[in-house]
Amino acid sequence: NKPAIIIEQISKTYYKGKKQEINAVRPLNLTVPAGQIFGFLGPNGAGKTTTIKMICGLIRPTTGHIYVNGYDVIRERWNAMRQIGAVLEGTRNIHWRLSAWQNLLYFGRLKGCYPREIKQRGTELLHDLDLWDRRHTEIREFSRGMQQKVAIACALIADPPVILLDEPTLGLDIEAARVVKEWIWKLAHERGKTIVLTTHQLDIAQALCHRIAIIQKGSILADQPLDVLLDKLGPGEFYSIKI
Ligand code: ATP
Repeated sequence: NKPAIIIEQISKTYYKGKKQEINAVRPLNLTVPAGQIFGFLGPNGAGKTTTIKMICGLIRPTTGHIYVNGYDVIRERWNAMRQIGAVLEGTRNIHWRLSAWQNLLYFGRLKGCYPREIKQRGTELLHDLDLWDRRHTEIREFSRGMQQKVAIACALIADPPVILLDEPTLGLDIEAARVVKEWIWKLAHERGKTIVLTTHQLDIAQALCHRIAIIQKGSILADQPLDVLLDKLGPGEFYSIKI
């Protein structure tokens, strides 16, 4: 498969005051082939969110380049953004006082979709995610799992080929987590989407990801032999770690 995401030597340093530097992400190289699910697995503060935010152009890397479907995220921002749908930091990107349907209309228009497209894709998404019957209810009345599903639907309204998901099942009950996991799997396997997700739950990474990078203190753990990393992940023939 052609690469959907190419990351070349990106790093991010935050500065706190004049003296304190936080190396949130240390120089990182990565290629994600189209149609694959790639997982960043690591504890809180490891640098997963920072990496995802750099890929979707929300924050600028201190060094390095990122290409999404061939577009430079910094220099060809608009074209790169059209390739990406992102769900960041839980569900904060959706509007609480709007209904699921109104949120889809809002994000669809924001992303430059025609009303006809929004109607067709929105209907499909709401059915697929089992939200159709409640489409006119305000989001604030929804459970956390339903809100997360709406956030994912909004990220997909313009049918982007690349999807970025930050902790997609965090805080969801078992049933909602199951629906979201199945949905992610289908997006890659049935619709050919490329997905990058972060998680600190090993079982999610194991169940979904074609490839996993374990990230800690801003670095991909490269100093351990592969079998040690595999040992940590447990057996499983689907998973390979490529560093
Ligand atoms: P979490 O699961 O808690 O979000 P994470 O693996 O996603 O963790 P990041 O949020 O990327 O990790 O954070 C990596 C490091 O960068 C942490 O030490 C964090 O405190 C720091 N950091 C993140 N954002 C900022 C910021 N805006 N300014 C300063 N430091 C930051």
